Amino acid sequence: MRPVSSGGLPLAASHGTGLWRRGIRTPAAGHTEAVAGLPRFVVQVHDATTLHFDFRLQAGGVLRSWAVPKGPSLDPAVRRLAVPVADHDLAAGEFEGVRAGQSRGSGAVIIWDEGTAEILRDEPGHVSFVLHGRKLSGGFALTRTGERRWVLVKTRDEAARPGTDIVAERPASVRSGRTWQELPGR
Ligand code: MN
Repeated sequence: MRPVSSGGLPLAASHGTGLWRRGIRTPAAGHTEAVAGLPRFVVQVHDATTLHFDFRLQAGGVLRSWAVPKGPSLDPAVRRLAVPVADHDLAAGEFEGVRAGQSRGSGAVIIWDEGTAEILRDEPGHVSFVLHGRKLSGGFALTRTGERRWVLVKTRDEAARPGTDIVAERPASVRSGRTWQELPGR
């Protein structure tokens, strides 16, 4: 629920490179080409002090980020609490692995979903967008409902799946196929 430390060299960059070198995760072949012109999004599962999902939406050179304790849903009736956290650098969205230590960003992280996002509206306290991910697709909205309190809701559209629980159905990483419990080094 807390942001990775901002400023200085991001942990994610060095750890991400190390993972790539050790072959734990594969480079995102074709990813850059595929997203040309569209911002990307990534949803990570992060086993920190409390397990949560980090929902990140690219805005220029940073990832706007919200911690979503229960993760996204494709059911438009489900409103998921989303706590805004600090912007993260783009490298943070590439990280999958286990960070040692007691810092805010430590713990196991998997890339639960990723893809591109079409921003429909972006105004103070509200952003709506269409996602093109492996698990998440169609419209979503993030809306502020209070002090450091937003909700993430699926739009009612053809991609909606009422009554389903995508988090339970598909718990594993879209990069490695592993759940966070299965990461090496845990
Ligand atoms: Mn986190």
